[in-house]
Amino acid sequence: MIPYNRTVGTRDLRFDRHGIIFIVSGPSGTGKSTLVEAMLARHTDLTLSISYTTREPRAGEEQGREYQFVPRSDFEARRDRGEFAEWAEVHDALYGTARASLDEAVGLGLDMLLDIDVQGARQLKAAYTDAAVAVMVLPPSWEELARRLTERRTETPEVIERRLARARGEAEALGSYDYWIVNADRADAIATLDAIVRAERARVSRMKS
Ligand code: 5GP
Repeated sequence: MIPYNRTVGTRDLRFDRHGIIFIVSGPSGTGKSTLVEAMLARHTDLTLSISYTTREPRAGEEQGREYQFVPRSDFEARRDRGEFAEWAEVHDALYGTARASLDEAVGLGLDMLLDIDVQGARQLKAAYTDAAVAVMVLPPSWEELARRLTERRTETPEVIERRLARARGEAEALGSYDYWIVNADRADAIATLDAIVRAERARVSRMKS
């Protein structure tokens, strides 16, 4: 219970709570990255978690900015030492979130934003329970997702087909999530995610006892 007198002292109550791990997942082509960027622009006190990955950097990506790019042997050594709060294999590469930075953020009352897949979301929901809030971003329809992926013209038809199959699989994991956002209208989707962030921050149950 939070003593009533906590609300009348000189202490700044905004920082008197546990941090939140905001997880955003969703198939590629749903506009997830745009939503994540919009949240980081609106909430300067929200920190993007930089994952470790064994995949090669793409053109324009920088070491330490999009990911910590590491060799597979390095990743596996970290994993075996228990350094990841979650990890998963996605499209033949390994991805993982460092445990230390998440634990530190939660303890200090800082909020993190994670763009991770459904396997990772499940692991974090199991490990961090209420400190982890998972949001799934979905396309308005599978036809629309297929259209968006085809329009990009960056992938071959086989890759698009594989992404669509994976997208359907991800949507089936919706039961592990707290919220879902159907991204039909960008401004509307941003407003919904913003509302989730604000409401979750306002939960009395997050206050430190
Ligand atoms: P990309 O290689 O295109 O940046 O990401 C591929 C997929 O890996 C995306 O669905 C992304 O959400 C997921 N991903 C990125 N980092 C992590 C991570 O640390 N853990 C897990 N489980 N998935 C991740």
